[in-house]
Amino acid sequence: MTRRKPVDSGLDRCSFCGRHSSQVARLIQGPPGIYICNECVEVCATLIREQPGQRMRPPAMPEAASSSAAPRLVSPVEIKAYLDDYIIGQERAKRVISVAVYNHYKRLRHNLGRTQVEIEKSNILLLGPTGCGKTAIARCLARLLNVPFAIGDATTLTEAGYVGEDVENLILRLLQNADFDIPRAETGIVYIDEIDKIARTQGNVSITRDVSGEGVQQALLKLIEGTIANVPPGGGRKHPEQKYIPVNTENILFIVGGAFSGLPEIIARRLGDKRVGFRIDPESREREDMDADDAEYALLQQVQPQDLIDFGMIPEFIGRLPVVCALSPLSEEALINILTQPKNALVKQYQTLFAMEGATLTFTDDALRLIAKRAHERKTGARALRAIVEEIMLDVMFELPELVKTQREFVIDTDFILGRRRITEPPAARQSA
Ligand code: ADP
Repeated sequence: MTRRKPVDSGLDRCSFCGRHSSQVARLIQGPPGIYICNECVEVCATLIREQPGQRMRPPAMPEAASSSAAPRLVSPVEIKAYLDDYIIGQERAKRVISVAVYNHYKRLRHNLGRTQVEIEKSNILLLGPTGCGKTAIARCLARLLNVPFAIGDATTLTEAGYVGEDVENLILRLLQNADFDIPRAETGIVYIDEIDKIARTQGNVSITRDVSGEGVQQALLKLIEGTIANVPPGGGRKHPEQKYIPVNTENILFIVGGAFSGLPEIIARRLGDKRVGFRIDPESREREDMDADDAEYALLQQVQPQDLIDFGMIPEFIGRLPVVCALSPLSEEALINILTQPKNALVKQYQTLFAMEGATLTFTDDALRLIAKRAHERKTGARALRAIVEEIMLDVMFELPELVKTQREFVIDTDFILGRRRITEPPAARQSA
């Protein structure tokens, strides 16, 4: 087997679990047309360890790959356990989402098996600052359930007739990721970011917000409540002579997310909370023994539909998002954990790259803390981590194939990060990491 990350043709799938290259962290190519993903490698390694000498069944075959089948039903506990492997913190959100997603796919099976009681679908609204894991959670769910996934940004959407993207383009992306297998796309997950940016400007909200928001909310509303969307196969704006692909959105799970800045104040006002001025009055915040992030998160957890309507979302739209969930801002501690703990953690990825060269890589605790601190200062959640680590590692990665000829152990400590030590020099004192 050749050990390499193949150039992704966009069509490659794991030959074991059927997942698409976009749904897994790594896809390793064997003989032409044969692939295995990083997760199946892990499952196989566990099987070999636990049942040596036995003939083994490959890991779960792709149920959802057959177009007519509903996705595999995964219990809330299993969903949460899978999310735990990749998402740090956000305990409550992971629980709520696990239940909602389980109910969604249970409903899908139930409704497919035609019964009298139609169960409504549980689209999800995630409230939380940028980079706290909203998209990552949605992506993780699609990977676990082996369903197509598409990401959209509400700010690029416009109502028909205006310059911008039609909402149907979200479904086109889903179709593309399902290789135009329509029944499979119809059971997929769509994540729409920055949903707060299409709030209308009436109510207790900022006057700087986009006025066209309401029309986009109306257009999205139809999509998320379930309709036959006419999707232009080539993308772009719709026009009358075009042929459309009809896609039923009734069973597509929509997860929408946004930072909703200003919403905590709306909630605080409803609660008659004295901390209403906590953003502009740091003294009152200190007395509350909370930092602004904690205070906002505490308020967001108490959100009611009326608060979202006051924010500028239309009632019908909110009515179609029965599951509302707040995500917390990430502390420095959480950022350190994100660097090291998830299955695909950045530090693990770098360590694997070094192992492939026959070398070891260690980050000291102080180094991890410094990276997390720098990321925290940028106020973009975990998003900044990759850029910061890449910057720190660039020169070493550039020289690595030469360096390994004379050195096998590499240590990243604060001295190295601050430019006080070269990577070829021994570190002052070794700590763990
Ligand atoms: P957003 O909340 O803005 O959608 P993302 O989910 O896109 O943020 O997160 C940005 C990056 O940070 C992704 O690479 C994601 O994997 C990582 N990340 C964010 N939050 C977490 C978390 N709680 N646990 C693990 N990784 C996270």
